[in-house]
Amino acid sequence: MRIAVIGGGINGLCSAWRLAQGGDHVTVFERGRLMDATSSASSKLLHGGLRYLETGQFLLVREALRERDAWINRAPQLTRPLPILLPIYRGSRRPRWMIGLGMKLYDMLAGKSALPKSESLSKAQVMAFMPLLKTESLLGGFRYYDGQMDDRQLGLWVAEQCRQAGVVINEDAPVVAASPEGTLTLAKSRPMSFDCILNVAGPWAEKLLSDSGIKARYGLDVVRGSHLIVERACRHALLLEVPGGKRIFFVLPWQGRSLIGTTEVRQPLEAPIVCSNEEIDYLIEAYNHFHSQPIARADIVETFAGIRPLVKSASDPSKARRDYAFQRNGRLLTVFGGKWTTSLALAEKLKRKVH
Ligand SMILES: Cc1cc2nc3c(=O)[nH]c(=O)nc-3n(C[C@H](O)[C@H](O)[C@H](O)COP(=O)(O)OP(=O)(O)OC[C@H]3O[C@@H](n4cnc5c(N)ncnc54)[C@H](O)[C@@H]3O)c2cc1C
Repeated sequence: MRIAVIGGGINGLCSAWRLAQGGDHVTVFERGRLMDATSSASSKLLHGGLRYLETGQFLLVREALRERDAWINRAPQLTRPLPILLPIYRGSRRPRWMIGLGMKLYDMLAGKSALPKSESLSKAQVMAFMPLLKTESLLGGFRYYDGQMDDRQLGLWVAEQCRQAGVVINEDAPVVAASPEGTLTLAKSRPMSFDCILNVAGPWAEKLLSDSGIKARYGLDVVRGSHLIVERACRHALLLEVPGGKRIFFVLPWQGRSLIGTTEVRQPLEAPIVCSNEEIDYLIEAYNHFHSQPIARADIVETFAGIRPLVKSASDPSKARRDYAFQRNGRLLTVFGGKWTTSLALAEKLKRKVH
């Protein structure tokens, strides 16, 4: 089949790769550069998503844990197992027993993973791993494993696998509209026809549908997440509760520095995707709440932001979010949502829908 893939983020590239491996003739259309949008602005975690356990999304977590392990095996040069410390403080919104239960469940859902299982830690053990943590009200904690990746480079590695499998990749190739009959309207060249078109434009998938005059069955909540990279070595990855709230944030080792994130700010799709001053203050304050050596704005080396394509049902926006959803309109298949970690699982499902 002749297949067009719109979007050169991780979900578009993985879809192109899988289809080409199956013998399809695949062409990717990316309006900018590959891996330059959401997929290179992530927290760089290959993870099952511990916090999805709270909302009972067990199947999603199990799938993501399998995919986490598969990425680590597939591309060890750009990924690594990452031990993460979860300190528990008096007054924490989640009691120790609840986190302990979550850890057990996470280990169970990970099945026969090669990554070590979680362990419960005393206060002294937490301090041994992270001497710079404030000790007041510290009760102890947990240590568990997920994966860390270089998101941009890993995506570019997938693009290389695509090329080797025969995928034609067009950058600087914006798609104006896609039709259920299989026609692509391109901004910079003549229309082209395909047996199947995949709209994998991430946060812009819904807009592309509406630009094509097609009603979307799902909506996408556009929620910005920002990160700071600070000039501070990070001895151990941390998962922490934002003081006074239920949100969590990460402090992660990243290229000899600390990566701190993330935030959740609703924004219009068209607004600039940048880390605001308020988000900088929020993340610095959250970091300093837990560390005995505070950071300041002068320590920031870089900030970056991305927008999450979170799926909601257009008919019932209050309905629980899911990781991803598909919509078929004749020869046009649209993907709503999708995480980095689960991009190959999504590609596999998409392949089954195409054939
Ligand atoms: C702050 C933040 C942290 C995250 N952290 C993690 C994490 O640690 N682990 C994890 O698994 N997931 C994480 N995610 C989720 C994950 O990053 C995204 O779900 C994933 O990268 C989405 O990939 P995508 O390919 O669907 O979208 P994108 O990467 O945005 O790619 C879509 C592409 O489509 C292109 N495009 C759009 N419109 C058109 C058009 N008309 N014509 C041609 N091309 C077009 C865009 O230019 C873009 O390159 C995070 C997300 C955010 C925002």
